[in-house]
Amino acid sequence: MTSETTQAGLRVAIVGGGVTGLVAAWRIARERPDAHVTLLEASDRLGGQVRAIDVEGVQVDVGAEAIHLGAPDAASLVRELGLDTTVIAARRGQSLLLTRRGLRPLPAGVGPTGPTQVGPVLKSGILSVPGLLRAGLEPLTRRRHPGDLSVGDFIDGRFGREVTTTFVDPLLGNLHSGDVHRLSLHATAKQLVPVAASGDSLLVRALKKRVPPPRRPDAPAPLPMFASWPGGLGALVAALTSALDGRVSVRTGVPADAVVRDGEAWRVETSEGPVAADAVVVAVGPEATGRLLGPHSPAVATAMGGVDAASVATVVLAYEADAAGANEVLRDYNGLLLNSHQSGTLKAMTNMSRKWPLDHPDWHIVRVSVGRAGQRTAVDLSDDEMIGGVTRELADLIGLAARPVFARAVRWPATLPQLSVGHLERVAAARDELSRLGGLYLAGSASDGLGLTSTIASGTAVARAVAATGVRVG
Ligand SMILES: Cc1cc2nc3c(=O)[nH]c(=O)nc-3n(C[C@H](O)[C@H](O)[C@H](O)COP(=O)(O)OP(=O)(O)OC[C@H]3O[C@@H](n4cnc5c(N)ncnc54)[C@H](O)[C@@H]3O)c2cc1C
Repeated sequence: MTSETTQAGLRVAIVGGGVTGLVAAWRIARERPDAHVTLLEASDRLGGQVRAIDVEGVQVDVGAEAIHLGAPDAASLVRELGLDTTVIAARRGQSLLLTRRGLRPLPAGVGPTGPTQVGPVLKSGILSVPGLLRAGLEPLTRRRHPGDLSVGDFIDGRFGREVTTTFVDPLLGNLHSGDVHRLSLHATAKQLVPVAASGDSLLVRALKKRVPPPRRPDAPAPLPMFASWPGGLGALVAALTSALDGRVSVRTGVPADAVVRDGEAWRVETSEGPVAADAVVVAVGPEATGRLLGPHSPAVATAMGGVDAASVATVVLAYEADAAGANEVLRDYNGLLLNSHQSGTLKAMTNMSRKWPLDHPDWHIVRVSVGRAGQRTAVDLSDDEMIGGVTRELADLIGLAARPVFARAVRWPATLPQLSVGHLERVAAARDELSRLGGLYLAGSASDGLGLTSTIASGTAVARAVAATGVRVG
């Protein structure tokens, strides 16, 4: 591959039509008007893990249901697509945690990696006295961690096991459907990396009053932190898809079977014939990434071979609005979280009709999450068993006597990548090896982390790298 840029046209193949692939395709097409971009998607629809089902005319997300717009790449994408005018904020409200004292509201300031404020946790009474005392020793027990370790080990070391089990397992563990003692701090809790490396105290930091920087007068109006759109996150996929129109050749129902060398360039083999490309972006799960790029790069095979993908499922339940309105949890809280030791079939519940304006006149809709890494619940149970299990468990937990009037289970087999300790180093080695080959790129949640914020950042970064390549098309 030469390093000269010509106007002859950069041929780009993008494998995977999830949010990563869509963002990458759109940005490459915009930044390189000379590019011929082909997007290959194996299934018959775009969006990947962003998907909704129709519940009597109401679209209910069964994959991702909220986007975090605190991240700059996500916020600017939303603005560039003109989606900032229609964005809706998740309704303010607390989630409940199942604690040693039963269901308790999640104290203010507790995030996926634990408490960021001291007062609300103290007042909540959720931690035992020995647990609180151990957590309070953090300024003394803190150590420097220049390398990666698991999020669970980091929090155990700083605050004690009770904080990990009570807060981090049900929050970060549920987000990733994983084991917090296996998930990499560097890959899944990036905000803690500077503190881990410096050894600074999180508790001392939390006690210091932080004054937010003043807003610049020319700054755009702030976007909600956790957001969606009327009709759900499909709006993001629809906006990206229509932005690709006329700029990118989108081929659904066409899986990439193999990536092969073709002189100085590459060829993506499909059942409908080859796609010639100077640059191939692979934005699919770990197994498919390993299969497509592993033959060219042992480092990719190693990096992706180390990523299990958890099988999960979403069960959508609807209750008569009157019955739901009489239930305190469904009326007053946005959701419910369990830790991995407490979970039966149900591991979390999102109270969709309270959190989002779903506007069904008669029904109250909730969604229940099922399955974690290492469990087969989400694949082995029949629909009836899964729906029956979560319905009973939810009824017991929140004291709901009513039966659902609608229930549907949607499965996500081998979908959520488990980024274990050392993942980012393995991915860096893989990218290094690919850069020496030239023209092959890794992207998406299997490389860069789970969640729309990470996948948008990943699609943006890979697009920048591809757009910067100078390729002479022979
Ligand atoms: C139940 C659930 C709830 C979630 N909740 C949230 C949430 O609330 N907020 C949030 O930010 N994130 C959430 N996530 C995570 C988030 O949705 C994902 O991290 C993100 O959508 C991943 O995007 P992606 O493009 O990297 O991968 P994917 O969406 O998995 O897209 C990959 C695409 O590649 C295709 N593909 C696979 N193999 C091939 C092949 N050989 N050739 C061509 N195409 C192929 C697949 O069909 C798929 O469409 C959730 C995920 C799930 C499953």
